[in-house]
Amino acid sequence: MNLSLTFGADGIALLTFDRPNSSANVFDVATLEELDAHLATLETRRDLKGVVLLSAKAKIFLAGADLNAFSKNLTVESRGHTIDLGHRIFTRLERLPLPTVAAINGICLGGGCELALACDWRVASLDKSTKIGLPEVQLGILPAWGGSVRLPRLIGLPAALNVILAGKQLAAIPAQKAGLADDVAHPEYLLAAAKKLLARGKRPAPAPTGFANSALGRRVVAHRAKQGVLAKTRGHYPAPLKALEVCLAAFGRPLEQGLALERAALLELVATPECRSLMGIFFLQERAKKLKAPGADGAGRKVRSVAVVGAGTMGAGIAQWSAARGLPVILKDIAPALLAKGLQAAEKLFRDAAKRRVFTEAEATAGLDRITPVAADVPLTDVDLVIEAAVEKLELKQKIFRQLEARAAAHTVLATNTSALSIDAIAAGLADPGRVVGIHFFNPVHRMQLVEIVQGPRTSPAALDTALQFVKAIGKLPVLVKDSPGFLVNRILLPYMVEAVRLFTEGCSAPQLDRLMLDFGMPMGPLRLTDEVGLDVSQHVATDLQTRLPKPVPIDDTLEKMIAKGWLGKKSGTGFYVFPKEKGAKETANAEVAFLQTTGKGSRQDDATRLDRLVLVMVNEAARVLEEGVVAAPEDVDFGMIFGTGWAPFRGGPLRYADTLGTAEIVKRLQQLAAEVAPYFEPSAKLRDMAKTNAKFYPS
Ligand code: NAD
Repeated sequence: MNLSLTFGADGIALLTFDRPNSSANVFDVATLEELDAHLATLETRRDLKGVVLLSAKAKIFLAGADLNAFSKNLTVESRGHTIDLGHRIFTRLERLPLPTVAAINGICLGGGCELALACDWRVASLDKSTKIGLPEVQLGILPAWGGSVRLPRLIGLPAALNVILAGKQLAAIPAQKAGLADDVAHPEYLLAAAKKLLARGKRPAPAPTGFANSALGRRVVAHRAKQGVLAKTRGHYPAPLKALEVCLAAFGRPLEQGLALERAALLELVATPECRSLMGIFFLQERAKKLKAPGADGAGRKVRSVAVVGAGTMGAGIAQWSAARGLPVILKDIAPALLAKGLQAAEKLFRDAAKRRVFTEAEATAGLDRITPVAADVPLTDVDLVIEAAVEKLELKQKIFRQLEARAAAHTVLATNTSALSIDAIAAGLADPGRVVGIHFFNPVHRMQLVEIVQGPRTSPAALDTALQFVKAIGKLPVLVKDSPGFLVNRILLPYMVEAVRLFTEGCSAPQLDRLMLDFGMPMGPLRLTDEVGLDVSQHVATDLQTRLPKPVPIDDTLEKMIAKGWLGKKSGTGFYVFPKEKGAKETANAEVAFLQTTGKGSRQDDATRLDRLVLVMVNEAARVLEEGVVAAPEDVDFGMIFGTGWAPFRGGPLRYADTLGTAEIVKRLQQLAAEVAPYFEPSAKLRDMAKTNAKFYPS
């Protein structure tokens, strides 16, 4: 039984969702049918004062439709049937003669939110876990159990589009401000608040008023919303545009007509490659959450306290994130002034999070208080995990690890956040090199979900499992990689950044190249990214990879020349772009770069060839990464690139993209580039092998 119906002495029925053997409630056909049966009972109970819909789960009201079931290779008929079932049952709920209220504590997304929208009233719990919204467009579809019709009716078109087109998830207070919740309450008073709302009776349904909801106003809203979507998606994502179309067409029309439009749009969207890729990303995320270290599962221990060595950009970020997740953190640097800087950075992150209502001010203060700054070498015997984030120098890291080994308890796992150095080399000289593992966070720590867990050849199962458990416990998404140059993400990204610099040297402008990749679907162009990372850092990592990879993409001296002029990118104010000091002002292309450029091949090539140079260099490297066993599966590559770099999500990652083009076509184009541009485009052995049968990375 997924839900139960009970009747209180106060004349109020409780319809409680509680999926057995699961921490989540989701909507599948069985749950819908149970709901239908309970509604049939309720229709006969005119004696009741109303119905409260609630969940027995701690952090989840209803997580939405069961995507596992929905993403299977279903026929159009069976998908259509599921949509119809939801439409019919939610409408039955809406038309129940009794007043209804959704008492929402925890996740209330997609189908869960649409269920709540079919109730007369909604009260949202102030618990942090509460998130209400319609994130369907992020999966390449649209809300199609009445959400695209009912939300605009409830809160007006502009506010509804704001939620639906961005796939927003709102906490209790913002949900109340948007009109999605009628009241908010602390979890312990949620039921009482819900019952109070029932006293209002059935909700009167006045149509939203105001200019924006008028016939003329709607056109203005629609135009603006479309421009907004296109600016954000560059036309690559059909779902928000379709959702906009349906919301507009359904607005002011009878319910059934609106629902029919939703149905048709969903069936159309679900068949698009974009939807397939985006659903695929959802499952990659689920896969990462369940990741276990092969052969090491259960060997590690739960991390209850952490020490972070180095209070710079990364160390401060790691300390803040860990403290925000409830862990006590010792933050170590070599001087009080450096610690103060690190703490200031952590405090800013806490305060910003409080502004966004992720924390209350008191929680932010308590979080910051969990960080203990130390400049001296304190004992680390009570610490389960040390994460070293000092400067990227092998000798320094080796020295730090030797000191750590002397001061930590025997069980303490020693991790490094190195971006490129060998884990094994860092562990050299330790009595127990098995306790060393890489935990590679990305910058900025609070934004980037991906963490590479790097397994050295001597890393022990216990260290690996502890690292993995820790990363999952702090809410990041892990990918398991072997100790090899650049690990996964930088290994694939660097050749692309190097190739972009080469094209620039050959005479293409930075905005031209960046636009090309933005149009491809990257979140930022490669040269703008180089400015963001820092030219010195990019050059350092590229040079390092150059010396350690068997087939590196050779680097030219352009970055060296720029660095010599003091152009380090955004941090120095100048790089490929010039960054104005005024807040909010946009960067412009650096006009003084002519001395760096020639009129090489790149300047004469067409955009398609330039694009191939930039993208296929990554595909080739991605294939090598698989060939060398740096990661276990194509899913790891695509997952890492999407979550580590924002790699064009609608294309599903570099290897999904390779499958779309076909490995035979890729090898043909790479060979052409090898002949016409440079030998480093020679396709990898794996690609050549696959091309013989045009084999796919994802065979099914
Ligand atoms: P950073 O220069 O901002 O900070 C390094 C800090 O380490 C400084 O505050 C320095 O005083 C401190 N330090 C130096 N020697 C120390 C010692 N013996 N004991 C304690 N602290 C010491 O560097 P960062 O950008 O934070 O990078 C740190 C590490 O993370 C490097 O290994 C880097 O490769 C890696 N990393 C950096 C990024 C990034 O984008 N910045 C991303 C991922 C990984």
